[in-house]
Parts: sequence; C-alpha cells; structure tokens
Amino acid sequence: MDCKFNLDKFENGLSELNISLSSAQMQQFLDYYQMLIEWNKKMNLTSITEFEDVVEKHFLDSLCIFKTFPQITDKKILDLGTGAGFPGIPIKIVFPDTEFVLMDSVNKKLTFLNAVINNLELNNISTVHGRAEDLARKSEYRQKFDLCVSRAVANLASLSEYCLPFVKIGGYFVSYKSGDIEEEAKNARKAIYLLGGKTEQIVRYRLPGTDANRSLVCIEKDRGTPKSYPRKAGIPSKQPIL
Ligand code: SAH
Repeated sequence: MDCKFNLDKFENGLSELNISLSSAQMQQFLDYYQMLIEWNKKMNLTSITEFEDVVEKHFLDSLCIFKTFPQITDKKILDLGTGAGFPGIPIKIVFPDTEFVLMDSVNKKLTFLNAVINNLELNNISTVHGRAEDLARKSEYRQKFDLCVSRAVANLASLSEYCLPFVKIGGYFVSYKSGDIEEEAKNARKAIYLLGGKTEQIVRYRLPGTDANRSLVCIEKDRGTPKSYPRKAGIPSKQPIL
C-alpha cells in the first residue's frame, strides 16, 4: 500500500495477533488515525498522537482481545466508557460482522465517534450517551449483550457493577488492565459474584512489540443481575461493593 506512514510496527503487531487486514480495513485504521489527530486539536480525545504510539497503545492494545476471543463474529458487543473509541472501533474494523454499541457519559466524544462511523462507513454500530448506571436499567440494554468490553474506565469492583448488568447470561465481560492486578481482582470478587459473574480468568500477555505487561480479566456471567444493581449514578465508584 502506498502510504505516508511507516506500517511496519502495525503489521508486525497484527501478525503477532494472527490478524490479517484487507487494504480497505487498513485504510479505515489510517482514516481513523487522521480523524483522531484532527479532532484532538479541538477537543481532548487522547494524549497520544504520534502514529506509531497510537498504533501501539490504542490500535494494537485494543486488538489484544484476540488473545482471548479469536472469533467474535456475529456477536452483540458493548464498549462501556469508549472515549475516543477504544477498544470498540478497532475491534469493529477487524470484525465488521459484529453488532456494536459504544457508550459514554461525555456527549462530545460521541459526536466524534459518529463522524468516524460515517467516514469509515461502518454498519451495525451506534453510539449511546449516558452513564452506565442509568442505561443498564433500560430494558433495551439490560442483559442484551454477548460481550461487554471496557478499557481504562474504573477499578474492577466498580467496573463490574457498570458492565455485568448489560451482559446476557452465558455472555462475557472483558476488562483491559495493565500492570499488576492481583489485588484489584481479589477486591472485585464479591462484586463479580453478587452481579451474576463467575470467577474471573486473567489472561496475561505483553503488548505486541513491547515488554509492557497487560491483562485481560474475563468474567463469564452465569446468573442474572439482581434488580437492585447497578446502584444510583456515582455510587458504584464512590462505594464499590467490597
Ligand atoms: N476506553 C477509552 C476511554 C477511557 S477514559 C480508552 O481506553 O481510551 C474513560 C471514559 O469512560 C471517559 O470517556 C468517560 O466519559 C467514560 N465514563 C466514565 N464513567 C462512566 C460511566 N459511569 N458511564 C459511562 N461512561 C463513563
């Protein structure tokens, strides 16, 4: 592909993850990068702006879901606290057959994402504005997703209260974490259990092309979430279930 960016790092990382992209999909990633940089001048979307850094810390990091779920076609997926679209947009580009909802409590980030969705001509993907605690009480979202993913939103105990109510019984919640998360995972056990989740499985790996430690915490939901959860907006982060 004739391109002004050096794609070596991206291509090496993708092959480490066993992902192969068509040239149209690669172009979608490049267009996304350009929009991110352009819009970032007007609003605070990311502190990472160099092409290779965005590739490593946003694109490849988001795609590490393939370490645990190599096949996620046909799934209905929620990205909770998506911000500038991570990990949702990279996963959607690679698996266009998924049905996606991107949620965030900050509306202007969704304005950016709607422009990305239009420009990249992504289908079966929508943005929803609101807080997890409120949206998880709506019947159109509650226990409706096969998979809920979330990166850099809250500690695992609070995050489980945001995310697990959206997941169908038999579905999964996957939390992207970096560094040592033993203690955080231990502190979240009670919340996970109360909200209908099974014991977590932690998949540890290195971010492709780096020696940075990352983990995916995967939680299967095997029971319904009791009606009393999530609690009112603000409570799960102020008073996590411990
Ligand atoms: N997932 C992105 C953004 C992380 S920043 C990334 O990894 O780059 C955290 C985002 O979560 C912010 O955009 C914030 O608006 C959103 N957020 C925080 N608490 C939330 C809540 N209770 N409900 C919905 N979105 C929330």
